[in-house]
Amino acid sequence: MRPFTFTKASDVNSAVSEVTSHESAKFIAGGTNLLDLMKIDVMHPAHLVDITHIALKTIEENEEGGLRLGALVTNADTAYNEQVEQRYPLLSHAILAGATGQLRNMATDGGNLLQRTRCYYFYDTQTPCNKREPGSGCSAINGYNRDLAILGTSEHCIATHPSDMAVALAALEAKVNVSGKNGERTIPLSEFHRLPGDTPHIDTNLKADEIITSIDLPAKGFADHYTYMKLRDRSSYAFALVSVAAALDMEGDTIKEARIALGGVAHKPWRVPEGEALLQGQQPVAENFRKVAEAYLQGAKGYGDNDFKIELAKRAIVRALEQAYKMESAS
Ligand SMILES: Cc1cc2nc3c(=O)[nH]c(=O)nc-3n(C[C@H](O)[C@H](O)[C@H](O)COP(=O)(O)OP(=O)(O)OC[C@H]3O[C@@H](n4cnc5c(N)ncnc54)[C@H](O)[C@@H]3O)c2cc1C
Ligand code: SF4
Repeated sequence: MRPFTFTKASDVNSAVSEVTSHESAKFIAGGTNLLDLMKIDVMHPAHLVDITHIALKTIEENEEGGLRLGALVTNADTAYNEQVEQRYPLLSHAILAGATGQLRNMATDGGNLLQRTRCYYFYDTQTPCNKREPGSGCSAINGYNRDLAILGTSEHCIATHPSDMAVALAALEAKVNVSGKNGERTIPLSEFHRLPGDTPHIDTNLKADEIITSIDLPAKGFADHYTYMKLRDRSSYAFALVSVAAALDMEGDTIKEARIALGGVAHKPWRVPEGEALLQGQQPVAENFRKVAEAYLQGAKGYGDNDFKIELAKRAIVRALEQAYKMESAS
């Protein structure tokens, strides 16, 4: 690991001013991703601003009647929060499908959204990678790409975003509150992460001086019909090959509203609102779910090893919607 300097911030303003006044500075929260990347020299900030002492550790009701999750609440405390469990069980299940108990005790909600891709080449400093070193090339496109993206890719990068939490937040239409040197702003989760385009080294629309302060969940939590399905190589301690956050608002046997977000398939949680709209006023039957699956995977492109993900994702959408309707537990 390269040498770096370190300060502790006591509030949001001092954190922002510390990160702005140092060259190549980064915030550090749980450290479960950043420190790993520093140890293998993939990320090398010259200065770290410890934000773990800032009072962003509460979960409380927001003005819209939803919940506000402080950015420094741990993933474990979020998943097991009584309000989250009751009102947003989809989020709770998605968080618990990720990592391990020990990691979830350290990992924070803000850090979870900013964790970096798990593309093997990104972690291997001996190989070209446009995300790690812009302009060096992408080893994955013609290399081993079984885990990588099939939607929203570019010729410069086919990485996926690894967060499970973000997929549920996308389906719930959460918003991310941030604070920076130019003040506060709110970024809809759908606009928080970016597609790779020709700047794959930029994962999100958060500016370097901005700190995530909280995440807002809207009042509607889809607590009656939901599922988070995570398909992976092992049943724990593995990232998703494909995941589906599915939520239905039912009136008798008719679907009033559907929300679906996919993980493991793109550089950001993948939502297709026109695909969801196909279910409005429809019956919850496999034939209708299959139409949605086709709409979600329109334009999908495999890179060889990951071709199988296209059909896998379609089947996962159908099964997740069936499970959400019947409220069977997800695998
Ligand atoms: C072995 C292993 C398995 C894992 N499996 C999964 C999994 O299956 N699913 C899953 O979703 N995740 C998984 N994770 C990832 C884990 O959830 C993340 O590492 C964690 O959520 C990151 O949070 P953190 O607080 O530790 O972030 P840190 O490592 O402290 O920071 C990560 C990044 O976020 C920035 N940052 C942190 N907080 C803020 C903030 N408030 N404002 C602005 N910037 C901030 C930091 O500067 C850094 O760039 C796994 C991790 C490991 C090590
Ligand atoms: S897919 Fe993206 S992260 Fe992976 S090697 Fe290519 S540029 Fe790097």
